[in-house]
Amino acid sequence: MSGRKGLSKGRGRPSPGAAAALAGVPVTVGQQVQCDIIGLTHDGEGVGRYEGYTLFVRGALPEERVLAEVVNVGKSFGRARLARLEKASKDRTQPPCAIYDACGGCQLQHLDYAAQLRWKRQHVVSSLERIGKLKVAEAGGEGVLVHPVIGMDEPWRYRNKAQVPIGYGEAGLIGGFYEQGSNAVVDMDACLITQEENESLVRAVKATARELGISAYNRATGRGLLRHVVVRHARATGQRMVVLVTNGLDIPHVDVWIGLIREQVPGLVSVCQNVNTASTPVVMGDVTRTLWGEDVIYDEIGGIRFAISPRSFFQVNPEQTEKLYRAAVGYAALSGDETVVDAYCGIGTITLFLARYARRVYGVEIVPEAIEDARRNALLNDIRNAEFEVGAAEVVMPKWQSAGVSPDVIVVDPPRKGCDPALIRTMLELRPERIVYVSCDPSTLARDLRLLEDGGYRTVEVQPVDMFPHTGHVECVILMVRNG
Ligand code: SAH
Repeated sequence: MSGRKGLSKGRGRPSPGAAAALAGVPVTVGQQVQCDIIGLTHDGEGVGRYEGYTLFVRGALPEERVLAEVVNVGKSFGRARLARLEKASKDRTQPPCAIYDACGGCQLQHLDYAAQLRWKRQHVVSSLERIGKLKVAEAGGEGVLVHPVIGMDEPWRYRNKAQVPIGYGEAGLIGGFYEQGSNAVVDMDACLITQEENESLVRAVKATARELGISAYNRATGRGLLRHVVVRHARATGQRMVVLVTNGLDIPHVDVWIGLIREQVPGLVSVCQNVNTASTPVVMGDVTRTLWGEDVIYDEIGGIRFAISPRSFFQVNPEQTEKLYRAAVGYAALSGDETVVDAYCGIGTITLFLARYARRVYGVEIVPEAIEDARRNALLNDIRNAEFEVGAAEVVMPKWQSAGVSPDVIVVDPPRKGCDPALIRTMLELRPERIVYVSCDPSTLARDLRLLEDGGYRTVEVQPVDMFPHTGHVECVILMVRNG
């Protein structure tokens, strides 16, 4: 057997009583079979084939041969545990993280980083071809140009935000991550994709909470106080924020607690509380208040300053965000005369980037607090040619259309589920010269590109950016131009 580097991401448990054979399925639960791995799913499972049947094997990589122990079986596919690696991929590497197997926050640490980037590009290409029915250009040929993924030089310690669940362990109050497939909290002191400034802040909050006897929330009983610790670090300014998510408003010894945290954490400028009494897994509730210091922290991307409040969406990888936004602005190719619409604008990040190069920009976003932040951010940067409106993009855009707004460029940056069909219809009616699509999901992206292509646009270029190294996610910026 060749090296066992990074082995054993076996996670599934056998389903009890499922050992009977399923008609037409060549394996049963508990059986060990040798299979060849022919692909990798977007959440990092190896796709194995055994006698024409598909087995998903967590931890296995393409071009490997493994001995897989079947843990559950369905009609068209099953899952298996990696029992033994029989032939390792040349791209296999030792995951540096000690808790990689248990945690599940990352899926690709056992794949060499350069190979991760190649795989992400291939994932984009195959979605465009399979779902979007687009022709991707081969070296120098005709078709959509899909660039290599822009990666990080140092793909660790990149996340500027962490949401840490709190629970009980032998040491009392602990915080870290949920054990795979359960809601038991496992304590964690180091996460290699989290910025160190966040890690030390979480450590300080946990240690001082233990010192003061703050109780941890218990998901089974609904009792106990501290549910999550959410921390943010603004890389450009060094400012740090902590949000204590509590099951109720009262925090015992709150001033002493804040004093102790502040002593340990220089650069802390904001201590907030969010109250969440719901029994759902959603992290934050509706009520947020500032306990000490500022209501927001400030970060900077590409020379623009942003105020970030406890609940605003802000990209988590600052170094890559700037590359992503630059690609979007590049594709918008503005000369200074254009009217631009930024749908799904969040706190106005891309909008304000664009504003510097356009005559007028309009941003629309469904979360009211985000639009408040966007307006504040425009003022903060003395940007006066940006206008923001709260609402669903698919509702606000037709309104703008009726009011005579006629964009030369439309930028969209929707959540995973992609653009609303009504928004696509409005875009096709507005007929901007260019559409710049920022996407975090290649499948819904490919679906939407097909609709836009059928409506008279051509997909020119795709620039994937690796915003989340070691996970299966890939972000893309796409340029489309109007035909004719
Ligand atoms: N462009 C921003 C935010 C992108 S995230 C940035 O880079 O920071 C996608 C945003 O779309 C979120 O802020 C989400 O609240 C918003 N959103 C979701 N559905 C929406 C809809 N139907 N209309 C407008 N905005 C929506």
